[in-house]
Amino acid sequence: MLAVHGLGVSDGIAIGKAFVLRQEQLDVPEYNVLRGQVDAEVARFTGAVQAARAQLDSIRNHIPANAPPEAASFVQTHLLILDDRMICVAPIDTIRRKLHNAEWALKAQAERLVDMFERMDDPYLRNKKVDVQQVVDRILRNLLMLDHDHHTHVRAGEIVVANDLTPADTVILKHHRVRAFVTDLGGPISHTAILARSLGIPAIVSAHSVTRYVRHGEELIVDGKRGIVLVGSDARTLAEYRVRRKRILEERRALNRLRTSPSITSDGERIGLHANIELMSDVKAAVSARADGIGLYRTEFLFMNRPEPPSEEEQYRAYVKVARAFRNKPVTIRTLDLGADKQVDGGRAGNAQVAVNPALGLRAVRLCLNDTALFRPQLRAILRASAAGKVRMMIPMLSSQDELFQVLDLVDETKTELKRAREKFNPRIPIGGMIEVPAAAVSADLFAPYLDFFSIGTNDLIQYTLAIDRVDDAVNYLYDPLHPAVLRLIRLTIDAGRAARIPVAMCGEMAGDPRYTRLLLGLGLTEFSMHPARLLEIKQIVRASRASTLARAANRILKARSALAVHAAADALNDGKAA
Ligand code: PEP
Ligand code: MG
Repeated sequence: MLAVHGLGVSDGIAIGKAFVLRQEQLDVPEYNVLRGQVDAEVARFTGAVQAARAQLDSIRNHIPANAPPEAASFVQTHLLILDDRMICVAPIDTIRRKLHNAEWALKAQAERLVDMFERMDDPYLRNKKVDVQQVVDRILRNLLMLDHDHHTHVRAGEIVVANDLTPADTVILKHHRVRAFVTDLGGPISHTAILARSLGIPAIVSAHSVTRYVRHGEELIVDGKRGIVLVGSDARTLAEYRVRRKRILEERRALNRLRTSPSITSDGERIGLHANIELMSDVKAAVSARADGIGLYRTEFLFMNRPEPPSEEEQYRAYVKVARAFRNKPVTIRTLDLGADKQVDGGRAGNAQVAVNPALGLRAVRLCLNDTALFRPQLRAILRASAAGKVRMMIPMLSSQDELFQVLDLVDETKTELKRAREKFNPRIPIGGMIEVPAAAVSADLFAPYLDFFSIGTNDLIQYTLAIDRVDDAVNYLYDPLHPAVLRLIRLTIDAGRAARIPVAMCGEMAGDPRYTRLLLGLGLTEFSMHPARLLEIKQIVRASRASTLARAANRILKARSALAVHAAADALNDGKAA
């Protein structure tokens, strides 16, 4: 039996067969063919192209009916690329003229194309090179008679083991009802980890070299809480884990009984528990957990796995659906947060692919203000959806007042356009800002007069405060929500919100982590937003807490003179020594 250790990012125990996704570099042979073999070589090439077309068709046909439309769009893009003469005809000329073997001819043509894309000014087209490479890779695999371990072949109940997964991959895998994820790379607050958590299935990231140790079809035990993957377990271990899995399921059932209980501390403080959603399919989970509303709707997922951004109409329909599902409860729609690790086709993710440091680059509100053709349809769609429910708009990654003013001007212009077109919308739609850049936290009092609410994005706030790239597993060990600097910034934001009498919520992962609930209550946080799977556990803690006692404890923790002391005090709080 072999144990591989990583970072558990989503609790639970899964037992199932491994589906190993390999993304290794292909070894492409280069040789000349004899003149007499040219026709056969051309036929080999066209056969591989036809096989690629059949595979893409099959993938398209196997995408479940309830998958979002964006899941199918990437297949359409790949089919279009495959049919382009530059891909399916140009290599044939090379085979005939230079007597190169099919793989060599295709590889040389692909290099020319990628080079051409890289020199393009338009960042959207520049990003297209990734699709070209993937299509070329597919044809090459057919020529080399290699397997396509593509995620669309994953079967329900399998455990996906991969080097890394993009958020877009995860969206597709989500529809295959996989049982768990394990990746070589990744951090606890990468968007892929967040998405995995929202599935409510165990997930482990940063399990170095797990793809080397695990073979396809091997039975695995994934312990998401401890961050351990067991390969080739004996009967006794399997039996133990089955018992533990049963116990966890029983605990979850017990938590379910809290669904209708109010979220109030023992001394009567009402605490709002909201849900974070990425896709329409998350709405059901949020409704079933009886969330007080949607505290964060990550709209960028509407833009993934598709060649073009969604139209205003498509966005409007998606937003209205969520607003209607929650009727009288607030639905906080965040404007696009593309760029950095959230790369998409349809979103023109800025220059992130080539940026030296994408997390500090043209991302989120910066990208939207730089590309208003992308931003305006979303503003229109959100405003129009505000006529259908209690919709709120939230701006990510604000770092300067000036950015906020530019957004507010665009919103005003959009309102005037809609009025002229006699479109309905809520003229007083609440507009909030995410506090996730240290500059915004430190100067939250300067933003407050212009905003209706704050929401603290601890994932980015921690990334930027501690200077740790959230997707770089080499610096994972520095990730610490209890770092005194982080706690001080949270306190500053809550105080600024209180002084300006605007609500302060938190929608980063910290809000859904039971280890921090008591401390956050003590710091005065009254609105938590998290993936729906976490909501009842947090409610259980809220109901067992006394806000006034926690406030005194939090004040003491803020005065601690070291991170170690903060951790010890937070542990004591969780052990019931101060609540
Ligand atoms: C955050 O940064 O905490 C947040 C909620 O936004 P995202 O994780 O989507 O960047
Ligand atoms: Mg963020």
